[in-house]
Amino acid sequence: MTKEAFTRAVEERAKRSGFTRALYETLDEYQAEERKVTELPVACSRGCSYCCHQMVCVFPEEMQEITEYINRLASPARRSLREQAREILGKWQEWFKIHIRVSPRQVHNPIELARAWLWKPCPLLQQDGSCGVYEARPLVCRTTTSDTKCGTLAYKQKGHAEQARLKCEVWANNLQVERSTSHGVSVVVPLHHYLTTKPHKL
Ligand code: SF4
Repeated sequence: MTKEAFTRAVEERAKRSGFTRALYETLDEYQAEERKVTELPVACSRGCSYCCHQMVCVFPEEMQEITEYINRLASPARRSLREQAREILGKWQEWFKIHIRVSPRQVHNPIELARAWLWKPCPLLQQDGSCGVYEARPLVCRTTTSDTKCGTLAYKQKGHAEQARLKCEVWANNLQVERSTSHGVSVVVPLHHYLTTKPHKL
């Protein structure tokens, strides 16, 4: 497993399925393989949503993937996802309207924004704690794991979730940044912004 082989696999797949899907599929394969080899402990499981309670930022191409995924959902699932997301997004918009006036620096500073939005749910988080767009979830969600079950005593004493604990996760992040930079995009944007503005507005 090398970075070069990883990059080649993404490029090959991208000819058929587009860059973002190719990146996610290759990453899925490499993660499974690398976890076997390194025996890296991962305590994350369906329904544990600690990491989903913060500001999640994504690249534009990732947002495209999420929007297409939502549009492909069967109509009852799509309606329920939208209704739930809109409730959270409504709170975000109220918060944003107030803070853009009183503290414009805060709403444009990713670190301050993340701090202000900590412990609030991602708009795509479902009531059962699962991700509403799991197959299309962005890179930051795909590459963040914890070796200790979040919320437990052990977690409070020593653990915390980390991004890019595996080599292939570092490669995937780097590849996405290189690609975005080459397309003139150097920043990630809060999912909330995308979901409340055209063309991704829910
Ligand atoms: S996109 Fe999905 S996995 Fe990522 S924070 Fe939102 S609900 Fe959680």
